[in-house]
Order: sequence, then structure tokens, then C-alpha cells
Amino acid sequence: MHQYKVGILGATGAVGQKFVRLLENHPWFVIHKVAASERSAGKTYREATNWLEDTVLSESAGKLTVQPCTPEALADVDFVFSGLDSSVASEIEMQFAEAGIPVISNAKNYRTHNQVPLLVPEVNPEHAELIRKQTFSKKGNGFIVTNPNCVCVPLVMSLRPLYDAFGVESVVVTSMQAISGAGYPGVPSLDIMGNVVPYISGEEDKIMTEPLKILGKRSPDGEIEEASFPIHASAYRVPVIDGHLLSVVVKLKKADVKPSDATEAILNWKNPISDMQLPSAPKQAIRLMEDPRHPQPRVHAMSENGMQVSIGRLRKAGVFDLSYTVLGHNTIRGAAGGAILNAELLVKEGYL
Ligand code: NAP
Repeated sequence: MHQYKVGILGATGAVGQKFVRLLENHPWFVIHKVAASERSAGKTYREATNWLEDTVLSESAGKLTVQPCTPEALADVDFVFSGLDSSVASEIEMQFAEAGIPVISNAKNYRTHNQVPLLVPEVNPEHAELIRKQTFSKKGNGFIVTNPNCVCVPLVMSLRPLYDAFGVESVVVTSMQAISGAGYPGVPSLDIMGNVVPYISGEEDKIMTEPLKILGKRSPDGEIEEASFPIHASAYRVPVIDGHLLSVVVKLKKADVKPSDATEAILNWKNPISDMQLPSAPKQAIRLMEDPRHPQPRVHAMSENGMQVSIGRLRKAGVFDLSYTVLGHNTIRGAAGGAILNAELLVKEGYL
């Protein structure tokens, strides 16, 4: 297999560090350059980074010199992953795409752009074709692909089988979000220790809009026709380190669907990437749990290296039709791991 030289933009941040950790020993991708702000540029990665991972920073990554986030400084990479702060991602990511360097981004800035795929490989791999509509690159093969907000990943993965089997009329989702989702240093300890904060700025809007693009259909002219059902979202910060837990209530289009029908739809769902042998893909993307105490962030967030989504408590709802709990690892499945899986899909499909 050809090895790709990759760059990481925002490599010193919480998501950037997760990229560095997950790409160590990756069979296809080798970290060639790391980049961050002018504050970090010129230092070694070890000096510039407050390493938050519970693994030892590798020698090879630690001694890389942090570059400024310019296409010139990263001219010799095949593509970049971006964990950039959203205040700077618009400009920097576009500079890379225009310079012919593909960008696989975690930032929110281009997620709703009509030429940019918002990808979850198990849910909408066919949206990758939007890349062909992009006109950003003035030379070469530059493009931008994004992955969704960290709550949207478990939400759309759990909705996909139900949406396909029964149609969805409306969704109410309450997300209990881990503190690692706020980056570092994140939420002040005095706010979150022994407490719950019932507001996360900007989060509810993303949860109410991004799933509609992801579950949308490609029209004959290649545009995405978004799904059209209302989602009501609430976002709570809870004192959990990793793993966002969602309580979901769904009204279905089809009448009289029983929990056993939904269980069958989830168990019979055909994962569209299961035969592609992508290195980061979980063997079982969605796990259905029977123990009513499960899933739990501390116990199940790291299932299948943090790439599996776990569903439990599937039952008839008191309002609407169905109710369930779903868990996904926010910085792996919902951020760096999801982006790496996107890049693996793009390699297999010939875009990279
Ligand atoms: P973070 O810890 O604050 O890291 C931000 C990164 O951006 C750092 O590497 C920082 O470099 C770099 N940066 C800031 N200003 C810059 C500039 N002017 N030029 C170049 N680089 C600059 O943030 P994070 O939590 O990792 O989040 C990164 C992105 O991923 C955000 O867009 C976030 O919304 C998204 N995201 C996060 C999560 C999560 O669970 N945390 C999940 C999904 C998506 P310095 O160290 O040099 O300042």
C-alpha cells in the first residue's frame, strides 16, 4: 500500500493531539508535518504541546518542528487533517484547498457549504462525490471534506437504520456531553465538578441542522437534497471526561412500529463500508445493548478503539414512538478518528 505523507493543522490542540496519537503506526498515513499558530511555530512538537493523551508521545512526533499553517510550509504533504480553531479555520483551510492540498477537517466552518461533503462513512459515503463539484482548487487536487459535530455522529448512526426502514417524522435529543468536547483547558473546574451546565454555546443549532444534510439524498444533478424533519436538541455539559451520551425520542413516519421492529431494523442494517477493509473502521459499527444500565461513557466509550457507537434502552416512548440512549466517543468517533476514517474512505474511492 502506498504511504501518504500527511500534515496536521492545529496539531497542538486537543483534537490535533488525538490525530497524532491515532496516526502513530497507521498503515497508510505517516505524519510528515505538524502545524499550529505563530505561538507554537518553530518549537519542537514536544515543546509546543501540553500532551493530554494517556499514551507516551512518540519520539518521531515529538521531535518534529511545528510549522506555521501555510500551504508553503506544508507543500510536500499529500493532504492535511485539520483540528484548527474555528476562528481561523475558514481562511486557512481554504488556502490549502486553493493551493491543491486536500483538507480533511473537524472544524464547523465548511460543514454546511453546498459543495462540501459532511461525511460519516457508515451513513452517507456516496456524499463524497460532492468533491467533484468543488471549485476551490486553482491548481491540482485540493478540496475540503468535513466530519460533523461530535453529537451528530452517534445521532445519525443510530437514526440511519430507522430512517431507512420507517421514515422519521421528528426527533427530540438531549445530549450529555463530556468535558473533553470543550478542548483544553475547557470548562472551569469550579463550574463542572459535581455539577451539570445546561448550556453549550452554539451546540444545539449544529445538532438540529447537520443531521439533515448527512441523511440527505444525492439528486440526479449531484446536489444534496436535505432530509426534512424537525429536530429539537438540548446540550448539557456533564462531569464526564470522554463520551457523549444522548437520550433520543423519535416519531416515525410509519405507524405502529414496535421496539422489536426497530431492533430488527438495526440488526439487519447493512453497513455500506463493511467490505472495504478500512483500517480504522470498527468491525461492528453499531452495537445494540440489552442491559438497561448500558451504555455508559466510562465503560463503553472506548469500544472498538473508540469507533463503535452503542445503543441501549430501546423502548416504546411515552410520547412519539421510540426512545433510546446512544453513546459515541466525542474526540475519537466524533472528531479525529472520524476524520481519519473519512480519509481512508477517500483513499479507497480514489479521491486521495
Ligand atoms: P484547541 O485545543 O483549542 O486547539 C486549537 C488548535 O488551533 C491549536 O493547535 C492552536 O494552535 C490552533 N490555532 C489557534 N489559533 C491559530 C491561528 N491563528 N493559526 C493557526 N493555528 C491556530 O481546540 P480543539 O478542542 O482541539 O478543537 C479543534 C477544532 O475541532 C475546533 O474547530 C472544534 O470545534 C473542533 N472539534 C472539537 C471536538 C472536541 O471534542 N474537542 C470535536 C469535534 C470537533 P496553538 O496551540 O499554537 O495555539
